[in-house]
Parts: sequence; structure tokens; C-alpha cells
Amino acid sequence: MKNTFLLLILLLTISACNKPQKVDLLVVNAKVYTVNNSQKEATAFAVKDGKFVAVGNSETLPDLFVATKIIDAKGKSIFPGLIDAHCHFLGMGLVARKIRLEGTKSYDEVLEKLVAFQKEKNLSFITGRGWDQNDWVIKEYPTKEKLDLLFPETPVAIRRVDGHALLANQAAINLAGITINTPASGGGILQHNGKLTGVFIDKPMELIMSIIPTPTKTETTKALKTAEKICFSLGLTTVNEAGLEKHEIELIDSLQQAKQLNMKVYAMASANKENLDYYLKKGIMKTDRLNVRSFKYYGDGSLGSRGAAMKQAYADKEHHHGALIYSVNNLKETANRIANSNFQMNTHAIGDSTNYIVLKTYKEALEGKKDRRWKIEHAQIIDPDDFHYFENIIPSVQPTHATSDMYWAEDRVGKYRIKSGYAYKKLLNKYGKIALGTDFPVEKVNPMLTFYAAVARKDLNNFPENGFQTENALTREETLKGMTIWAAYSNFEEKEKGSIEVGKFADFIILDQNIMTIDINKVPNTKVIKTFSNGALVYQR
Ligand SMILES: [Zn+2]
Repeated sequence: MKNTFLLLILLLTISACNKPQKVDLLVVNAKVYTVNNSQKEATAFAVKDGKFVAVGNSETLPDLFVATKIIDAKGKSIFPGLIDAHCHFLGMGLVARKIRLEGTKSYDEVLEKLVAFQKEKNLSFITGRGWDQNDWVIKEYPTKEKLDLLFPETPVAIRRVDGHALLANQAAINLAGITINTPASGGGILQHNGKLTGVFIDKPMELIMSIIPTPTKTETTKALKTAEKICFSLGLTTVNEAGLEKHEIELIDSLQQAKQLNMKVYAMASANKENLDYYLKKGIMKTDRLNVRSFKYYGDGSLGSRGAAMKQAYADKEHHHGALIYSVNNLKETANRIANSNFQMNTHAIGDSTNYIVLKTYKEALEGKKDRRWKIEHAQIIDPDDFHYFENIIPSVQPTHATSDMYWAEDRVGKYRIKSGYAYKKLLNKYGKIALGTDFPVEKVNPMLTFYAAVARKDLNNFPENGFQTENALTREETLKGMTIWAAYSNFEEKEKGSIEVGKFADFIILDQNIMTIDINKVPNTKVIKTFSNGALVYQR
């Protein structure tokens, strides 16, 4: 009591002697979730030159500051700007040029959509993604005969929903120079009765992908701006882009420098030879909006396409284990090269075999090296014996994958292995932190769906009623941290973002309802009212 009284006198004295400081923005009457452990909640804050300069309460801050602009939040809740720890930002922006096949109920529906799409767009090469044979009555991979009849001359290459299988027509196959004798390592080129079916799985997909015409600089710029608009409207202020090429990173940098792009991007460079040679020599590239300090490596494919490498055979395909995309030697060499720099290695690992091999390789490569924050992207199916490796490796997971895959994942891996699949709480307990993302456009962009899936472990159909493997649900507080401060930490950015804290960039969002207290089933309908990046309004509903 006495101390409180003294503090009050002190504060009054300070405010009485000092004349109010000029700031750019003062936000008052808010319910601020700071995500700062030493000051969890506040009702007001001040922003100057793009950074938080004070976080406190609505009674005292207005006396201490004169603001150019004042926002009365009228009791609404405010959170740090959200981070998507694993997404395909540019890819999402480019999808308008591509056909979307998500939700198609049959192969015939896919074909109908292709015909209608081409009638409208008249493209010289048709690409797109989203089909999923698991959603069809006949749950088998399609074959290209009908596609060849409909598109005898125009190449068509459409990827499965997870991007780990691709259907191509003969025109595309001819253009790529592929024959029945083309070798298929790191995946498969499917055949039936001595003929190609048109389905390519994992690495051999590159043969087709490499002949798809790349978008022009103008198209790429447009795509980035489209993606930015969508992300800001949903409360994202930083995106971890999982795999870019050098020219794409450079375009993002130049657009940011010219103030044409305000989204903050943690750009993982694809771990190919060209990028490794270039960025390891150049070193970390860091501006206020761009952070290039990591490589994205592909361990395996996906569970849906049975490309993910499993220690034991798939439960629904005899003798089939999936496969690593590259050799173990390639993985080790790459890991050792990256370990000798300050860069992080972020590896896509879905199957329990891949997770084990990658985690073990990480451990060896990082021997004696401190605080390197290497990540496993997805960490989907983990052998119970291997969780301990996550004591030093950051799990970067996508809660909506759990609620999308739950319908068929157990078919793939069986009753026992599914129990240590999508095990976010267990992963969090090992490392002490977990980074959350979506993998959009594989999943929807909306981070409120991530929040809902992580906490409720249900999808938008309210299924399953009591949640999927809820022993691995996260609390709301953990989820919020995974989308803010822990994601920032996973990027080595926790000193500049991820919480509403003095000295950090003023990235924050105002929501129309309080996701920390409302009925969890209402969270998916939450709307962003305003989004701020470096103190500037970048979205308003
Ligand atoms: Zn991804």
C-alpha cells in the first residue's frame, strides 16, 4: 500500500515536471493483449516513429503524450500483428492465374472446370492445383486419357491439393521430353499397362514444373501486392515465406525499399545449389521488413499423396514407405554447409522416418553450436522415441493441417502412429515454444482458423464435436504466442516484434471480438477492424 502510494506520488511528480511528449499515435480504451510476460495487459499505448514508446493505461498516458492522432478503441481487443510462420505468400498471390480445384468431387468435375477456365483465360499453358482424389467417389489417382482428348495441344499440369503429386497431359509430357524410360528417383512417374498415366509424385514433378513458363516481373509484382492486401485484411503483418528464389527475394526487397510493399517477409531461400552458393557467401540480409537468414529444404512429400517417408509401411498401401526427396548424403552436406554459417535450416518433414533422419542430421551438424534455432516445418508424424530431439529444434506447425487431414490421416498411418501425429502440445512441451502458421494457399489464409484449430482441434463443420486428439490442443495463450512472439523468436526477430512492448515496431491489430474470452466456436468469425504496420494504418474494415 505504502509503496503504491509512493509510486503514485513519483508518477505525478514526473508528469507535473515534464511537459507532454509529442507522439504520432495514441490508442486508448483498449483491451490490449501485449504478449509481454512482464506486463500482460494494458489499456493504452503510444507510438512514435513507427515504434511503441509507451504501454500503459488510459488514465495516465493521455496526460503524458500529445498525439497527432488518437484512437479510442471503445473497449475492443488489440493484439500484436500476427505472424504466419509458414506460408507461400507469393504463391498465394499468383493463384489468380491458376485454376483452383479444391473441393472438386470427381475427376469429371476437374475436367469440366478446366474447360471453363481455359474458355475464360485462353492460356498457352494451363496450371493450377487443388484436386484431391481422397474427396472423390473413386479414390484413385486419375489418368490422363480424358485430359488428352480435351486438351490435345495445350499443355496442362495440375497439382494435387498438397503440391506433392501432379497430373500432366501428353502435350506437357512431350514438351518436357519425358518418356516411359525416364528415371523416377525421389518419388514416382506412374504407369499403367506400360503407358504413362500422367501422374508424377514428388521429385519427378520437377521435370514438368521446370517447363511451366515463369511469371513476368510485372505479374509477380501484382501477385505480391494482391497477397499483401489479403494478409493485411486478416491481421497478418509478417509472413514466413517458405521457399523463394533469389530474383523473387530481390524483387520483394526493391518493392519494400520503394515503399510499394509493406508486408514484412522472413524469406526462406530455397536450398538449391544456386541459392546456397549465393546467400552463404553474401551473408544474412536484414532490413526492417525483410529477413533472409534461412534456407528451406524439402525432406519428403506429403501424407495425402503417400510421399511422406515412414519408418514402417503405410497402413493403406502394402510395402509402401514413401521416400526422402533427396539422398541422406545431400541432406547431410546441405546441413553441414548451413551449420558453418549463421543461417538457419528449415526442413519440410512430414513422415516419422524423415523427421527422425532430419532431426538426427541437425543434431550432428549443430554439435557444439549454440542458439541456432533450426526448424522442422510441419513435424507431422513423429515416432514417440524421437520427440526428445525437439529439445533443441523449433517445431513450426500448421494447426489447420490437423483438422484438414484428420478425415483420412489415420487410414494412412493407422491407430498407433496417428496418436503421435499433429502433436502440437507435446512438441511445445519439448522445445518450450512452437511457431504457428497455415501453409497457405494449401490452407486458407485466415489466422483465426489457425487459432480455432489449435485450441478447439475442430474444423468449420464443428467436427469432431469433441475435437481431434485434444490432448494435443494448445491453450489460447499458447496459441497467441505461437502466432506472435514465438514465431518472431523462430525468426530471430523477438527483439523487434511479436509483442506490444516499448521499443518494438508498432505492428498491431484491432479485432471486433475478443478471441481470448469468447466462445471458441465463434473465433472463426472474428473480423479485423484495423491493421497497423510500423505504426501506419495498412488496413481498415
Ligand atoms: Zn509449405
